[in-house]
Amino acid sequence: MSGKVWLVGAGPGDPELLTLKAVRVLGNADVVLVDDLVNRAILVHIRDGARVIKVGKRGGCQSTPQAFIERLMVAEAKAGNAVVRLKGGDPFIFGRGGEEIEALGRAGVECEVVNGITAGLAAATGAGVPLTYRGIAQGVIFVTAHGTGENEPDWAALAKTRMTLVVYMGVTRCAFVQQALVAAGLAASTPVLVVENASLARERRLRTRLCDLSEDIAAHEIASPAVMVIGEVARAQRESAGALYGMRTPA
Ligand code: SAH
Repeated sequence: MSGKVWLVGAGPGDPELLTLKAVRVLGNADVVLVDDLVNRAILVHIRDGARVIKVGKRGGCQSTPQAFIERLMVAEAKAGNAVVRLKGGDPFIFGRGGEEIEALGRAGVECEVVNGITAGLAAATGAGVPLTYRGIAQGVIFVTAHGTGENEPDWAALAKTRMTLVVYMGVTRCAFVQQALVAAGLAASTPVLVVENASLARERRLRTRLCDLSEDIAAHEIASPAVMVIGEVARAQRESAGALYGMRTPA
């Protein structure tokens, strides 16, 4: 009898931001493959006796090749196991969930995806920043700064949308993003909220302007994982929990 794979979003880190479905599916799993951005506190929902396999994929650190992870999921499911692939945030937002369901489909393995709260959403909400706001931002765009070459986002086009931009994987390329958006005509004074480790106890927030973005990120040594929320909505920031770093009032 063949097993099944669940691609489960673990959310941004706060264990209370898990869905009830994620908790149920984790509790039934025989094998759990855990990404390294997943907060260990979430693993309490795994039943005793289940096997937990850590599959690191963090940029710059030792990582498990994607093909190996896909083969492992297929092999475990074909052995009859209930397999959970636990990923940070949402599996379908920069989580390679699309590639994984395709690989599982090719292998004839049944698969289900369970949503998680994506980091950009949690980062903004935790800081009291609404990503859309009537009259200010008619939409929100989740974009990676990690694409290069033919995968490079069209920053000039993005600058013209007047929508909120939520940039993932952007810390190391923040100077480039800043320059590309300003060159395309986005106001240098556009407010930016940078959130490192959103929803975790060690969360840090930086509030700055587009023209000061890379300088302030360097000055405060903001490191991955962090998201940048760029747009007028960031001006409406109302602090809730967590430390506030480098407070600078946008002009
Ligand atoms: N699937 C994930 C994204 C994975 S890509 C999701 O939906 O959230 C990894 C990037 O996500 C990081 O480089 C960072 O930009 C962002 N990220 C993940 N967790 C984060 C957190 N707790 N705080 C801030 N950014 C985070």
